[in-house]
Amino acid sequence: DIKALEEMKGQESITSDGRKVEIAGNIGTPDDVPGLLRNDAEGVGLYRTEFIYMNRETMPTEEEQYISYKKVLEAMGEKPIVIRTLDIGGDKKLPYLEIGEEMNPFLGYRAIRLCLQEQEIFKIQLRALLRASVHGNLKIMFPMISSLEELLEAKYILNEVKEDLKNENIEFSQDIEVGIMIEIPSAAIISDILAKHVDFFSIGTNDLIQYTCAVDRMNEKIEHLYQPFNPGVLRLIKTVIENGHKQGIWVGMCGEVAGDMRLIPLLIGMGLDEFSMSPISILHARRLIRSLSYEKCKEIANEALELGTAKEIEDFMAKISKTL
Ligand code: PEP
Ligand code: MG
Repeated sequence: DIKALEEMKGQESITSDGRKVEIAGNIGTPDDVPGLLRNDAEGVGLYRTEFIYMNRETMPTEEEQYISYKKVLEAMGEKPIVIRTLDIGGDKKLPYLEIGEEMNPFLGYRAIRLCLQEQEIFKIQLRALLRASVHGNLKIMFPMISSLEELLEAKYILNEVKEDLKNENIEFSQDIEVGIMIEIPSAAIISDILAKHVDFFSIGTNDLIQYTCAVDRMNEKIEHLYQPFNPGVLRLIKTVIENGHKQGIWVGMCGEVAGDMRLIPLLIGMGLDEFSMSPISILHARRLIRSLSYEKCKEIANEALELGTAKEIEDFMAKISKTL
């Protein structure tokens, strides 16, 4: 009901026993900011920058990008804004960037893989991001990291761009957090190692489910195998959160699962720190989280992760949610 949701505005996202989390929003363009503000987002957990590059004939310039990033940072004041570097490829193509036909585009030349090879494109975006950083609380996130080498290479390039800006006397913030999406199983499995090199993780369940279960997220014929409640996926998520916490970094989630009311109690129980979702879900999630006990959610998560099928976990959560 609308009144109960309205009452959530200005409230903390905190469980009944005091576990505080952050609920942020996912956006694609600066035009999404009013929706964030209307729904009292505590930040932006995922700004998908590929939309700046799409539906146009030429590459966006550094200046154009800078203006878009600055708009979002300024509009959100001191709130944290996670901007993800270009995640093109897979199902998203650019008319002005020929990447050739691929047998398996989702397993192909995309996101950070492309940026590490097309370094000019990557560097222009990083320059725009760094310049925009003086206008707010920017965090930079790399998508589709599958190995430590890729992460170190991306960080190396970021540092090169910082050096360039310093030499040109262009200002940028000195304390920008750098994080990665955990959306590929190989990264989730070595998340203990990756955690030593970043300030945060954000779990991308849309791709993590796809790659863990080997189920094309666009293929309707196998839709029933694309399971947010899959026990293998949930165990991986728990591992990632634990590994992040062991290294003292925060762990968020920006895939669809983060805004799924059926799964939020599990994620709270696993210790997730930040939830980023479609802005319209934010107040619903806050209301739910404020009704939960962290201690109880921990017990539920442990119990759920002993179950063998997605169906069992889903049914268990449906049943338990009535008692929460
Ligand atoms: C994800 O994979 O969960 C994610 C948030 O990224 P995208 O949906 O843009 O691939
Ligand atoms: Mg993804």
